[in-house]
Amino acid sequence: MSQALYRRYRPENFAEVIGQDHVTAPLRQALRSGQVNHAYLFSGPRGCGKTTSARILARILNCAQNTEASPTDTPCGVCPSCVELARGGPGSLDVVEIDAASHGGVDDARELRERATFAPARDRYKIFILDEAHMVSPQGFNALLKIVEEPPPHIKFIFATTEPDKVIGTIRSRTHHYPFRLVPPDVLVPYLGQLCASESVPVGSGVLPLVVRAGGGSVRDTLSVLDQLIAGAGSGGLEYEGAAALLGYTQASLLDDLVEAIAARDGASAFRVVDRVISTGHEPRRFVEDLLERLRDLIVIAASGDAADAALRDVPADQMQSMRAQASHLGAAELSRSADLANAALTEMSGATSPRLHLELLMARLLLPAVDDDRSGLGARLDRLERGLPAAGAPVRAAEAPVARDVAPAVAPATVAAAPVAPPAPVAAPVPAAMPAPADGEVDVPRQPRGTEAPAVEPAATDEPGSTDSPAAPASRPVAAAPPAPAGQPPAPAAQPPSAASAAPPAAPQGTGGPDTEMLRRRWPEVLETIKGLRRVTWALVDPRNAQVAELDATTLRLSFDTAALAGTFRNGGHPDVVARAVRETLGFDVRVEGILTEQTSAAAGRPAAPAGQQSPPADGGWGTPASSGSRAAGQSAVERAAASWDQ
Ligand SMILES: [Zn+2]
Repeated sequence: MSQALYRRYRPENFAEVIGQDHVTAPLRQALRSGQVNHAYLFSGPRGCGKTTSARILARILNCAQNTEASPTDTPCGVCPSCVELARGGPGSLDVVEIDAASHGGVDDARELRERATFAPARDRYKIFILDEAHMVSPQGFNALLKIVEEPPPHIKFIFATTEPDKVIGTIRSRTHHYPFRLVPPDVLVPYLGQLCASESVPVGSGVLPLVVRAGGGSVRDTLSVLDQLIAGAGSGGLEYEGAAALLGYTQASLLDDLVEAIAARDGASAFRVVDRVISTGHEPRRFVEDLLERLRDLIVIAASGDAADAALRDVPADQMQSMRAQASHLGAAELSRSADLANAALTEMSGATSPRLHLELLMARLLLPAVDDDRSGLGARLDRLERGLPAAGAPVRAAEAPVARDVAPAVAPATVAAAPVAPPAPVAAPVPAAMPAPADGEVDVPRQPRGTEAPAVEPAATDEPGSTDSPAAPASRPVAAAPPAPAGQPPAPAAQPPSAASAAPPAAPQGTGGPDTEMLRRRWPEVLETIKGLRRVTWALVDPRNAQVAELDATTLRLSFDTAALAGTFRNGGHPDVVARAVRETLGFDVRVEGILTEQTSAAAGRPAAPAGQQSPPADGGWGTPASSGSRAAGQSAVERAAASWDQ
């Protein structure tokens, strides 16, 4: 166990090199046909097999079995050269590895040129492997140029570099250039699985994707991460919790968690990510820079659709899939507005004494599009409307919908006028009307901030008789309009002037997702796979383009759907049970599953009363009442049609 995994499993021939078939296949073909060039350039990101492949190439070239008469693409493994160049072998006199990072000067290049004039000591070729070749100085390259241009027949050069552009063109043009790439997860995950099996280390589900993500496509980095996990693992092997605790704090995973939380409008998770950014010592400014970069990628995806694959070639396929979902949940205008906000925050953060404060303010602004009344904020809200969502958090939970509907016809015209001046209105209004309970007028003010259920019930009850009694009606309306908003949530923002909502961001987002929510979001693709196996219709319904994980608490998993039709369809027809079963089978715990409308979670994010009031007519008119919505029938029949086609 003492030697690093990366060394122990270093490939010894091209068949063992993973994820670089586009390079190894033509190379092997050239070797088999004896068409060997005198200089090679291997380029690509760090840790993806360039130096390893250079050594393999050297091993094949100098293998005693590899002769002009019988060229081969696989080292025999038994001749003296093969043994010397094997893993843990002493190395061969005829294969010289030079690290150009420390030996890239002109003197080193001259020395190399002199050594190259000698014939190989024993084997067919004298092979020079120049690692980090971009570090060779221009003078060094010029000193090498002559010998690379007109090499003696016994000399081979293999340059390996992360930056092929920095290798001077005259040398580059004399090499065969093979670009290596990052290794995709669908290759790395099974490879790590095999490796753990041969190490007899049990691996819990979900661990390897986490490791692969932390490694970022570099085999060496991935194996180092795995090494570290194995070293810290008990007899039970690798478990998800331990791995997440160690790896859940990398810049990349924090960024993923944050964007997912913003896409799901899950304020609690977003602020927890901020907490982790700070507590794990990440630099807030750097983090916002990365966030801006991610938003840029999402804008590219939103703007160019399928063509985004070409523009974002370096993004792994699984990451691309989740980014597509994020882009579609946020929408182009919202993304563009978010990028503006992140950019502005970046400027404000330079030299700021409390970068954390700025980071938190940024979170609040990202989460609350409704407080932004300029054009970009309006654009974001329009985006949401177009996608069938309430633009500004219509605060209607499914259970409360009937109450809201009863009140709505009477309230709607009044609130539009009254809402912008919401704070004074409810306080002043009840006084003339409150004959039955004069105390109500005074009690109302302190009560609202406390946010218990009591005030929500009382005004609603008094309103119904009141609505037939014309003098009382106008007075009670503003009061009646308020209750749906705070129901079950602290209504602090409603009781304060609207500006307070943006000034006190940490208090605003409400307890939607807990730490478990983040875990579930990360492992959601696995659950989706299980659902796919259980029932295709459900799988299609909860596709990331339609639904996302809104919240997981001790008993209930809430999936938020983009349209009322989808949410309604999900609630009927046994879909929640299928998801619950998939969660149990994949993650091993029991949970009740509910389908809700996307905006229902963000209603909790403490939007100011005014926008909520303004938006209440559309909310009551359709979005908030999935059960009675006419569009539901259309949505259901579409899914039924799909179901029928699968069942055939
Ligand atoms: Zn050999």
